[in-house]
Amino acid sequence: MDIPVLHRLALNESPYPPLPSVREAMHRAVAQAHRYPPLHPDDLTERIAAWCRVTSDRVTVGNGSVGVALQLLQALVRPGDTVAYAWRTFDAYPLLAAMVGAEPLPVPLAPDGHQDLGALLAALDHRTRVVVLCNPHNPTGSLVTADALSAFLRQVPRHVTVLLDEAYMEFARDTNLPDSLALLDTYPNLLVLRTFSKAHGLAALRVGYGLGASDLVERIRRQQLPFGINAVATAAVKASLRAESELRLRVDTVVAERERLRRELVSLGWRVHPGHANSVWLAAPDPIDEGAAALTDAGVQARHYPGEGLRLTVGNRKANDTVLTALAGLRALRSTSRM
Ligand code: PMP
Repeated sequence: MDIPVLHRLALNESPYPPLPSVREAMHRAVAQAHRYPPLHPDDLTERIAAWCRVTSDRVTVGNGSVGVALQLLQALVRPGDTVAYAWRTFDAYPLLAAMVGAEPLPVPLAPDGHQDLGALLAALDHRTRVVVLCNPHNPTGSLVTADALSAFLRQVPRHVTVLLDEAYMEFARDTNLPDSLALLDTYPNLLVLRTFSKAHGLAALRVGYGLGASDLVERIRRQQLPFGINAVATAAVKASLRAESELRLRVDTVVAERERLRRELVSLGWRVHPGHANSVWLAAPDPIDEGAAALTDAGVQARHYPGEGLRLTVGNRKANDTVLTALAGLRALRSTSRM
């Protein structure tokens, strides 16, 4: 018998539905759905640029940040070039590399879940066009600090573009966070990737953006589908940008729940490294496969990498409590079975 899914914690989505002001903006846009959106999303680009305090020639909008990443690869990669990334990472990267005929260059994560920056640098050669760095990382939630990122960028050859994926940056609270936009002047081979899918909670609407030097941005924009950004999504994003303080409260709540989950899991005996995204990462040799089964039985959908790890999106309080109960029961079971 199929167990009903009560809590969706597998895709690092926001636990919150869109804010009322965002929904109202979407309703108004729906009433105009017989009209095309602009050929190019110039107005939205300007709004995002103003919000990020950069000039609009440094911003490119796409169909989710995945869409921007694909446009970047389409602009830069020729068949047979390599695209390097830490592995594991966000599942889309190998798919996108395959879509443009690139040879994937997966570089194993360090045992503590960090991207191995030294090994990534060592993997780059004359055929490498793009190296992807996720910060914070998916799935482990690990962070590349400001110092480590600067040292990395200094060593990347200029023929390699660095795709710095900051999909989860709003959830990071470390004191040594990179100010990636301040690096754009120094590194014309840097594209910072961000999204409205995570902190803004608009994953279904598919809007992401890239920030980079104007030459690079121009090349990426040339790959944009005409009329490609949905008008309802545009209205929602603009309203979301006006709701910054409400969103900040939501993000703060997710961060507080993430820290609660981590503390409680540690007190149950799980080894949990500090995570900086909207998720918690449990890894082998802790009993993650049994954990995954216990979560399924409790109606929790998590992301399970068999034999390797378990990524739990931070949900609402009820969902997180369900996770804790399921994983606590498992540890209790294990300790009694050992007796
Ligand atoms: N980057 C990372 C690291 C992600 O984990 C995800 C989504 N899981 C994305 C990008 C995708 O974001 P979008 O919805 O903007 O395409």
